[in-house]
Amino acid sequence: MTERIHAIQIAANGIHTRSFTGLYRTLRIAFAGVLFVLFFGTAWLDWNGRQAVLWDLADSKFHIFGATFWPQDFILLSALLIICAFGLFAITVYAGRVWCGYSCPQSTWTWLFMWCEKVTEGDRNQRIKLAAAPWSLTKLARRTLKHSLWLAIGVLTGLTFVGYFTPIRPLAQDLFTLQLSGVALFWVLFFTAATYINAGLLREAVCLHMCPYARFQSVMFDKDTLAVAYDPRRGEARGPRKKGSNPRAQGLGDCIDCTLCVQVCPTGIDIRDGLQMACIGCAACIDACDNVMDKMGYARGLIGYKSEHSLQGGTTHWLRPRLLGYAAALVLMIGALVVALQLRPMVSLDVIKDRGLFRENAQGQIENIYLLKVINKTAQTQRYHLRLLDAEGFELHGNSEFSIPAGEMSELPVSVAMLTERPASSSQELAFEIRDSDQPAVRSVARSRFVAPLNR
Ligand code: SF4
Ligand code: SF4
Repeated sequence: MTERIHAIQIAANGIHTRSFTGLYRTLRIAFAGVLFVLFFGTAWLDWNGRQAVLWDLADSKFHIFGATFWPQDFILLSALLIICAFGLFAITVYAGRVWCGYSCPQSTWTWLFMWCEKVTEGDRNQRIKLAAAPWSLTKLARRTLKHSLWLAIGVLTGLTFVGYFTPIRPLAQDLFTLQLSGVALFWVLFFTAATYINAGLLREAVCLHMCPYARFQSVMFDKDTLAVAYDPRRGEARGPRKKGSNPRAQGLGDCIDCTLCVQVCPTGIDIRDGLQMACIGCAACIDACDNVMDKMGYARGLIGYKSEHSLQGGTTHWLRPRLLGYAAALVLMIGALVVALQLRPMVSLDVIKDRGLFRENAQGQIENIYLLKVINKTAQTQRYHLRLLDAEGFELHGNSEFSIPAGEMSELPVSVAMLTERPASSSQELAFEIRDSDQPAVRSVARSRFVAPLNR
């Protein structure tokens, strides 16, 4: 119930965070900058005359900086995702929710939307006043400006996201000339709305109540995991005091009870109440409290990255079996993926036999028809040679020398004729081989069957 009230409070934009400065804020802005440049910039990059990163849904292939992955290669992409997930688990065991605090798109876009809010509606106190004030022209203008900025970022995000699945240049041109197809328009609007709602309206409620990672990551924590925490042994008893006075003489700890750590928290919690699931590890409270400690002349770190062991006065163990196990598994998986990528065949061949069993050609020979699908997975146009392997008594008819552009598939109809009068069996195996004319080691073999009547 408390969780639901908390979610509603955030969703209703009831948390007005105070601005602050500090090391972790700078780090977060730097991470966000890299993320934005990668996300918004990569979609516009070209590589060998084609969009550098494009998941071509129509042709079921994925282009990434000159390499093309086809459905049969998607196991490698799945392996990459598993490695990323495993890496995330390892980081979580080591340093808790740093992914949530610094790199998660939900948090990053939320901070961007909060910055827009600050620019248009002012700092915390001005926003609280504006929220409580009756509607006026000023309030209408500020709110309109804020929502327009949010919508503009939403459209840009939606356009960019869809631009990874359909070439972004014509997509953008069609969007701004109002000629977008119905399907493309739907998806751009869908992701615009998703960005606007998630980052503008729901904000950290998404982290707290929708994100599955937030739910299960706490089970990965151990007593040495670093998490943003308040040190009660140092901070308590909390209370105001004069600057320069001796807190110990007054029976006080280092916390002056200024509540700045609460005022900067995007989820509106008090970290002094202990580790909480609602803490997304953004470290805003560390920056706020460090600034207070500096002003009071106390040592920094009343709130900081701390392990349960260190909070209890013990030592944090950095190298522990679980982490070493994760690191070893990661190295093994990355090594296996690199080897698999190196060994990935750069040409692939599929043979589809025509549904008609056989026919007689003009020379009176029994003939079977096949459709060959040849994929050039390299970043250059390649010349190929096609032949039958160990096929005495059979002859291949069709184009045996041809070129295929980079990252493209060619469909090649061919026929195979039987040179003997009487087949040894009604169904015989045939092996087709495609070989790169310039690099004979690059080859692929596919098998099919040749069907012939036993008595004619
Ligand atoms: S910011 Fe620091 S000093 Fe101020 S209330 Fe929070 S923990 Fe105490
Ligand atoms: S308590 Fe709040 S401000 Fe501090 S790290 Fe957690 S979410 Fe961020």
